[in-house]
Amino acid sequence: MDYKIIPSVCSYCGTGCGVLFKVLNGRLVGTLPNKTHPVNQGKLCIKGWNLHEYITSCLRLTSPLVKVKGRFHKATWDEAIQVAADHFTSIVDKYGPDSVGVLVSAKMTNEENFLAQKFARAVIGTNNVDHCARL
Ligand code: SF4
Repeated sequence: MDYKIIPSVCSYCGTGCGVLFKVLNGRLVGTLPNKTHPVNQGKLCIKGWNLHEYITSCLRLTSPLVKVKGRFHKATWDEAIQVAADHFTSIVDKYGPDSVGVLVSAKMTNEENFLAQKFARAVIGTNNVDHCARL
């Protein structure tokens, strides 16, 4: 039996609680709070306690999906990003930059949220930026 405890950070929200993953024979089987982590000091909310469940869920998407004629198809990241970029470009060309917006997430880091608003303002040319905490 190979049992390991691997420290990590909860990815459910931007608080950044420290967790310890329980790994048995190479499979993630549980999550514990990290008592020495400065953010949560041994505490977790219900989402953190169940962090391992979504990581190992068979329902989890493992590749991008692109919708073609009403049906989703697996795609590479390059294909999916190109499709999104083409659609964004055609909408902005036709209706202007304020016809689109960027929604960011509490699951992203501050640095990623900063980059997203920079992308919206400097690349697309819109101030339509919002955050899931306000939805
Ligand atoms: S344990 Fe709860 S509060 Fe802590 S990072 Fe995860 S979701 Fe956020």
